[in-house]
Amino acid sequence: MPAQASGPVLRHVRVVVVGAGFSGIGAAIRLRQAGVRDVLLLEKGPQLGGTWRDNTYPGCACDVPSTLYSYSFTPDTAWSRLFAGQREIHAYLRTTAERHGLGRDVLRCGVGVLGARWDPAAGRWRLETSDGAYSAEVLVLATGPWHVPRRLDVPGIEGFDGPVLHTAEWDDGVELAGRRVTVVGSGASAVQVVPAIQSRAATVRLFQRTAQWVLPKPDLALPPALNRSLDRLPGARSAMRSGQYALQEGFGYAFRHPHLARVLEAGARAHLRLAVRDRRLRQALTPDYRLGCKRLLTSSTFYPALARPHVRLHPTAVTAVRGNEVIGADGTAAPTDVLITATGFRVGELPLSRSLYGPDGRSLHEAWGGEPKAYLGTSVSGFPNLFLLLGPNLLGGSTSAITVLEAQLAYLTAALARLDEGGHRALEVRPGVQAAYNAAVQEALDGTVYNSGGCTSYYFSPSGRNTFAWPWSTGHLVRRLSRFDPASYAWREPAATPSQTESPVPTRSERP
Ligand SMILES: Cc1cc2nc3c(=O)[nH]c(=O)nc-3n(C[C@H](O)[C@H](O)[C@H](O)COP(=O)(O)OP(=O)(O)OC[C@H]3O[C@@H](n4cnc5c(N)ncnc54)[C@H](O)[C@@H]3O)c2cc1C
Repeated sequence: MPAQASGPVLRHVRVVVVGAGFSGIGAAIRLRQAGVRDVLLLEKGPQLGGTWRDNTYPGCACDVPSTLYSYSFTPDTAWSRLFAGQREIHAYLRTTAERHGLGRDVLRCGVGVLGARWDPAAGRWRLETSDGAYSAEVLVLATGPWHVPRRLDVPGIEGFDGPVLHTAEWDDGVELAGRRVTVVGSGASAVQVVPAIQSRAATVRLFQRTAQWVLPKPDLALPPALNRSLDRLPGARSAMRSGQYALQEGFGYAFRHPHLARVLEAGARAHLRLAVRDRRLRQALTPDYRLGCKRLLTSSTFYPALARPHVRLHPTAVTAVRGNEVIGADGTAAPTDVLITATGFRVGELPLSRSLYGPDGRSLHEAWGGEPKAYLGTSVSGFPNLFLLLGPNLLGGSTSAITVLEAQLAYLTAALARLDEGGHRALEVRPGVQAAYNAAVQEALDGTVYNSGGCTSYYFSPSGRNTFAWPWSTGHLVRRLSRFDPASYAWREPAATPSQTESPVPTRSERP
């Protein structure tokens, strides 16, 4: 990295990427491939991996086939299963980073970004990190929508008489064998963890506030011989990827045409009927909203696990914890040795939004007013040279996040190339462009199952705006992001040579 300063240490980098999960690693690789060599990837955790470093609970795996849930620039990866598990995906990210030369000169683990502010005079971001101050021309936030755990917040939880685990903060040291385990939550993590732990525990009780639609998961092994055959057939893996993409898009099509979701509902009901003989249990597991309204789940082991005699479903919300009992809204008192909270993430809250300040001194959080908005989920009006990865209104309930991410990375590299070509200092999406785009997104969302399916979900902000979902096809999103549109942006001219001794970025309490 160039430029060390005397006085306050201020290291300058062309592009700082925050977070080394799928998004940050992909960004660093793609930017370097596009000729942007001065990239620094800052990761607060002890190692790279994001989601796949943190979620080590038993049964954790992807639910989009791995050939699609992986970078398109690593087509030769031999996955051991159709849906790889957490360890394999984490190892894949480590190998990919190594293979693409993301050494210590690029990737710094154990460095948390605490805040950032745009310095209009210098035309740069000033960053405060746990490793001192940095400045950057371009800031890329790859902090992940599914990163900050949502806690079970009920009276008495602090006084629980035993270990409390969140699925994203698993502790292998907690003994489950022969213990009475209670799981709270019925989303994607719960349907994976319950089948994986039930054979060890003495009893498992699952508190389900809302029933979920669950389709079978064809979790097939891909043995080495099959992988060798795929290696020998040119284009075989990419054909698999295209087939999986088309299948996922089929789900997406149904989500945009909710009457078609009924067909999938019939499949999910048949799946439930085959696995669960008890009528009352089946009723308790049958959702009362349209399939796709919440994230669609897949598992072939969840329903059979619930049908086991030592596993019990409580179709009620948890209202309190009393000593070693978990209390349900229906009066259930579940004696518990180990409490597992599969309560998901604070999806709508970008981790750094409260300590990231634009030129007018407002934080991203203040600018958003509780409703995250961006242009193409990537650029935010009032925040120059800032790029969000997997930002607002980009994902659907069916797409591989990596497909969306790679389209954004193409957009990012095109934007940076344009900055260079024009000799500009900064680009900022025009407020009118962002407003018109978001109005169109919200209008189109009205017709989707996400908005009309009769459920509440993490797709919505507390004010009731869908800030998560993309209302059109993934193909349409990829096409939109493949054309960088300079006219949508205001361009700023180069500044005088910036000083190297400005004071570091203020902390939250010091901000103006
Ligand atoms: C259990 C689970 C299964 C999933 N399965 C699928 C699937 O099958 N298909 C799919 O498409 N998606 C899936 N997802 C969604 C998944 O999160 C995304 O696909 C993808 O991994 C997100 O990558 P990311 O890099 O954007 O974010 P993350 O993986 O969350 O990485 C963000 C990184 O940023 C770091 N960070 C945050 N704040 C700071 C800071 N201030 N300073 C420095 N570093 C910071 C974090 O430590 C983290 O390493 C799943 C999510 C979970 C939780």
